[in-house]
Amino acid sequence: MPTAEIITIGTELLLGETVDTNTHHIARALRDIGVDLYRTSTVGDNRERIAQILREALQRAEIIITTGGLGPTVDDPTREAVALAFGVETEFRPELWQQILERFQRYGRKPTENNRRQARIPKGAIPIENPVGTAPAFIMETGNSAVISLPGVPREMEHLLQTRVLPYLKERFRLNSIIRARVLHTSGVGESQIDARIGDLERLSNPTVGLAAHAGQVDVRITAKAESAAEADRLIASVEAELRQRLGNWIYGADDETLEQVALRTIAAQEWNLAVVEANLGGRLIQRLAAADGPFLGGDMLTEQPSLPQLQAILRATCQKRSASAGLGASLIPGETRQTLHIALLTPRGEKTTTRTFGGPPQLATRWSVNLCLDFIRRIGKDEHDPQS
Ligand code: ATP
Ligand code: MG
Repeated sequence: MPTAEIITIGTELLLGETVDTNTHHIARALRDIGVDLYRTSTVGDNRERIAQILREALQRAEIIITTGGLGPTVDDPTREAVALAFGVETEFRPELWQQILERFQRYGRKPTENNRRQARIPKGAIPIENPVGTAPAFIMETGNSAVISLPGVPREMEHLLQTRVLPYLKERFRLNSIIRARVLHTSGVGESQIDARIGDLERLSNPTVGLAAHAGQVDVRITAKAESAAEADRLIASVEAELRQRLGNWIYGADDETLEQVALRTIAAQEWNLAVVEANLGGRLIQRLAAADGPFLGGDMLTEQPSLPQLQAILRATCQKRSASAGLGASLIPGETRQTLHIALLTPRGEKTTTRTFGGPPQLATRWSVNLCLDFIRRIGKDEHDPQS
């Protein structure tokens, strides 16, 4: 199985002026054709530094994809840098120049002498015509490796990747495996608790199982590699069943499902509707509920941070005012080292409260609180928080 590296080229990327979306796009595409991406890097528009990074990458990977630096000006150095890395000159290719002239003609523009630079590619390179822009791309092959240089403009890069590069890679490296991923979302439980329960599964090699913790939420990602999508899905399904068995109600959803959707679905299933009051959460709880589909009647932001009994009283009044059958109140109270979150839930079945403390980074406290509130709602009717208790 070939391994790949991505090198994005452009000083504007290093200055933080342009967000590097090309890496993300190419990484996804490589994943989908079963190529293991081992490293990505970004380098400025400097011929020597690009050549050096290319030489290093060629020691490690079979597939190296670069983006950017193919423009017509002197500070677009990719052509020369690839040539330097391979110890060859660039050469003028009349057929590329012809294509560039035709494209300019179609746009009704006149090429400059600079544009001739774009018809030069490293000696021995395979040109890739660029029907969506002027800069031709190219592939430099050596023994069992290939350096593929694509334009920086995302639209052009994506087009050439889809139509030319991926088919080339599939054929050249006889790729017949694909990678599929599924993410199970959990809430209301810490990463270490999950880890304790599924540690053995995290050591599997296919599918792999990995954890990613966010404030108040932990994702469990299952990634499988197989010769067909159906086979990969089958591998995923068997591990998913095992994970669901072990994590039970900690799991609230999968892939694109959000905690707010699931919380509102729980309310809808009871044929209730929901109002909220929040203190010191910056409107985030209201925003997330409002952005999801479901029976949400809106909420109020409080300017003080009420105690739990005060919060319950305010919540009752709010539900009455908004004619809501259910309500959730949250009050985040800052402290020296830990923040305290009061949650009150009011439903036709009665009232429930909880108080939790957060000792993590203060800037995560809001996210953590909102996730906890949504988790509290989605657990209505499922009191067993722990599948094994
Ligand atoms: P052109 O032929 O248009 O000059 P190029 O190959 O020289 O293409 P660059 O000049 O390096 O590409 O970049 C063109 C534009 O594409 C940049 O202004 C930037 O906005 C965008 N771009 C470059 N690299 C990236 C990247 N990695 N992610 C997202 N956008 C990028
Ligand atoms: Mg550039």
